[in-house]
Amino acid sequence: MSLTSDFMRRKRKKILGIMVLVAGVLAVAPGRLPGQVRKTCEGGVTLKLNAGVTAQGSLLIVEVAGAKPLAEFAGDWDGRAIPLWREGVKTGTLHGLIGVDLEKAPGRYAWKVSWKNAAGEAKSCSAFVTVRAGKFPTERLTVEKQFVQPDPEQEKRAEEDQKKMRAIFESVTPEHYWDGKFQLPLKGVTTGGNFGRRRILNGEARSPHAGVDFPALAGTPVFAAQAGKVALAEELYYSGNTVVIDHGYGIYTLYAHLSAIEVKPGDSVTPATEVGKVGATGRVTGPHLHWGLTVERARVNAMEIVQHKP
Ligand SMILES: [Zn+2]
Repeated sequence: MSLTSDFMRRKRKKILGIMVLVAGVLAVAPGRLPGQVRKTCEGGVTLKLNAGVTAQGSLLIVEVAGAKPLAEFAGDWDGRAIPLWREGVKTGTLHGLIGVDLEKAPGRYAWKVSWKNAAGEAKSCSAFVTVRAGKFPTERLTVEKQFVQPDPEQEKRAEEDQKKMRAIFESVTPEHYWDGKFQLPLKGVTTGGNFGRRRILNGEARSPHAGVDFPALAGTPVFAAQAGKVALAEELYYSGNTVVIDHGYGIYTLYAHLSAIEVKPGDSVTPATEVGKVGATGRVTGPHLHWGLTVERARVNAMEIVQHKP
């Protein structure tokens, strides 16, 4: 979602944006760098986290292993339920993803797993993660008043859109719709930027940019990042023609500013499904794809789900 006067500036900032992105990726590259957390708990249960220190807007990959499959298990991250799923029938290992919202207050947070042991007793164990402030650029822009102060009718529409989106992101489908790695939504495009960018418009702080922008020609086909079900496919005030895909277990991807929508709510999609075409609908001036990732309501850098198979 970009603004008029913002478009040329973005081009100039592209190189910087890529550098920031690379730095962000290096800072959180899980599984490969030291910093993994492994906590041994009662009854031979082990909690694993890909990182003990992470940044706002990141994804954490979690695992719970036990000598025997756990019964009545549940995960929690700072008061939010974190769904866990099994992959394959042979192992009792549970997998999960924790989204660290791009505005999550820096601090130390517990990831708590609870279960019942063979005797039916309630057990729990926690591992801790430190969240650091993300390194996001701040941009100060002066734009036309209408972009900062929509009229009451536009404002009402935008609020209704927001309510609708919140209801979608709050629902967790206990299904593993995705199958394998997530992919970038445009063929042949591997770099996107602007995630987390803080914006100050006409001196007023606005919500940070929660997606990744890919510059592309209008009409370029946009594909689903992975298999899922279409949760929303309609025109919204700020994001224009928008598609949201539910991948299951609280994982959603969003595709905005489309010139055309090729799916409808309830449709099953695969990575071969064209969900729409790149456009410039909503609050934009140049055609581009705005791609968002939400994990249990947390707004996360979508590039991370491509790098780590959930
Ligand atoms: Zn955007």
